[in-house]
Amino acid sequence: MAIHARAELESRKERMLSEDLLARGIRDAAVIGAMREVPREAFLSPDMARFAYDDGPLPIEEGQTISQPYIVAYMIEALELQGTERVLEVGTGSGYAAAVLSLCAAEVFTVERIAPLAQSARERLERLGYRKVTVHLGDGTMGWKEHAPYQAIVVTAGAPEVPAELMEQLASGGRLVIPVGPTPHLQELVRVRRQADGSFKRENLCPVRFVPLIGEQGW
Ligand code: SAH
Repeated sequence: MAIHARAELESRKERMLSEDLLARGIRDAAVIGAMREVPREAFLSPDMARFAYDDGPLPIEEGQTISQPYIVAYMIEALELQGTERVLEVGTGSGYAAAVLSLCAAEVFTVERIAPLAQSARERLERLGYRKVTVHLGDGTMGWKEHAPYQAIVVTAGAPEVPAELMEQLASGGRLVIPVGPTPHLQELVRVRRQADGSFKRENLCPVRFVPLIGEQGW
């Protein structure tokens, strides 16, 4: 990439951090630091790279999308990470959110159902040096039992209901953040907290729009 193009991206990134994240209330210093560090352009096709720090979602392969930067930051902030957690992400897509998560937690396990996406995200994360992320091909509505329980779980596709299996794989005190809605393309972001006594507390956070979660406990 030419030097001027790189400088242009850096200044767009600073604008994104101040106007799209800070001005809208993102406060978690680790999340803001991670959003500054991870190059979103590296998770996009070359023709999309110049839009990397625009305030919206962008298309990736297989008809899927990489979420709006603000939503990525908002969801990760809502997980209330301290840096010590084992995190499960459902919906690897480009691998961008997994990279950001990996700078805010101890370990990230991420599941993607579309094989070419899982493969390219795995290669990209490895090439960029995100060693704390492990990508798995499969139906994430069933979680990833092998590494459970998770102190935090984030789902980056919209579900008809909170998958029971994901609640099952949440550690005591853990947080699950997931878009839930009655139609495949319009949802409410929901946070589920597993209490010390094993019960679950559910809160609605904000309206969102994600691609559908497709699988056994999805659409
Ligand atoms: N977090 C991604 C955004 C992903 S878009 C990023 O930062 O780029 C949502 C992704 O969820 C898509 O790639 C889609 O294929 C995937 N998905 C949908 N249903 C799924 C399921 N049941 N298990 C795993 N991945 C799923």
